[in-house]
Order: sequence, then structure tokens, then C-alpha cells
Amino acid sequence: MVIDFHCHVGTAEKLQAPWTTRADLSAYLERAEEAGIDKTVVFAITCDDYERANAEVAEIVAKHPDRLIGFARLHPERDKGKVELLVKKAVEDYGFRGIKVHGAEALPTREVCEVAQQFGLPILVDIMGRVEVLPLLATEFPKVNFVVAHLGSFADDWRVFQVMPYLLAQHPNLYADTSGVRFFDYLQVAVKVAGAHKILFGSDGPLLHPGLELHKIRLLKLSHEDEALVLGRNAQRLLRL
Ligand SMILES: [Zn+2]
Repeated sequence: MVIDFHCHVGTAEKLQAPWTTRADLSAYLERAEEAGIDKTVVFAITCDDYERANAEVAEIVAKHPDRLIGFARLHPERDKGKVELLVKKAVEDYGFRGIKVHGAEALPTREVCEVAQQFGLPILVDIMGRVEVLPLLATEFPKVNFVVAHLGSFADDWRVFQVMPYLLAQHPNLYADTSGVRFFDYLQVAVKVAGAHKILFGSDGPLLHPGLELHKIRLLKLSHEDEALVLGRNAQRLLRL
């Protein structure tokens, strides 16, 4: 089974960039089907109210229950004090299976990690290059699985890619997704150093083409077993599917 671990969906208020305006899935769903992607993890784009946005994501997931898996997005600072309530609703009412946090807003706080642990959810986190926080998160919450989006940097920061494989290898609960990583050699090193069991295929759709992102994984020319781990089995394990 092929699982795309990173895709956005829904609307936002600011209208200052595609990711604060709208993420429409119609082209994505067609492309993903063509590419042979079975399931996709989806969560809200950057917005002003994640209670509203998570409810919107839930509605869209409910239209494609066989293909979409929802994650609760939240803002660790703005949603401070109500993280448990927000996640509880996402898990119990919407059937969501993880948490998404973006470092452009705030990195995961103790409250966020405690709630993730309480509900047994992985945290997909865009650290925006802040690799130094990863040992702190991973050590403080060894029972929480952290998936680092874009191998640590959407901005092609090679310094981040240089150290990420060793952090992944060092901490059993640290993982990374492959979405938007352009420097191919670093992906190869990450799989080699950390192991295929620590890397998850992700596309960062709908802005990035899931077929193109998936092809990168094929080009790694992994063993059949390792490729299966990266493409879906790791995700299945983390999502308890
Ligand atoms: Zn993203």
C-alpha cells in the first residue's frame, strides 16, 4: 500500500499566499490515483482558526473515507490551554490519526507533546530548519513519534540535510518525510544512515505533484522491502492502520 504522509486541504482567511488561501484536492486526487497512491494524510493549511479548519478537513475526509486520513492541525501558542480539547474532538468525532504543527507558527510545546502521547498520535512537524530542537523533543517524549516534514527544510537548507540522517539514526522516535526535498543525494544518505524504517514518502500536495514526488522514491532504487517501508508500511505502523 502506498501512503502519502503529507498533503494539505481546505481554506484559510489571509489570502496572501496559496497556503493561506485554499488547497483544493480535485487535481491532487486524480494525480494520486494515476500515480498509484492508495491513501493520503491530509491537514489544514495555515489559517487563523484550527477548530474551524479541522472541521472543514473532517468534512472533506468524510467524502473520501477510503483515500483520506485526517490529522489535526493546531497552533501550539494560539491554541495554548485548549490543545487537549481540540485533539480530543479531532480523534473522537473526526477519526483523525495524528497532529500537524508548523514551525512558522510555533514548534511543539510540552502541552502538544503530552496530548499526542495521551492519544497515541504521531506529530508531523515542519521545523523550518530548527534541527537543534529535535533531540529535545525526542528525548523528552520518547513515546511520541515525531515525523520531520521535508527532511527538516522546505528551503533546500543543505546544512539541515547534512545532520538530519544522524539525528534520525540516533533517536528511535524520530522520522522524516520526503516531501519537497530536491537535493536527491541527501535523501539517499538519509535512507542509508537512518534506515528505510525511518523515512516516509510524502508529497506536500496539492501544490507539489504527488506522482513526481513518488517517482523520487522509485529512483532511490531501494530493495523491494525497503521501498515498501518508505512508501507505506512505516506510515501504516505509525498510524496504526
Ligand atoms: Zn506542507
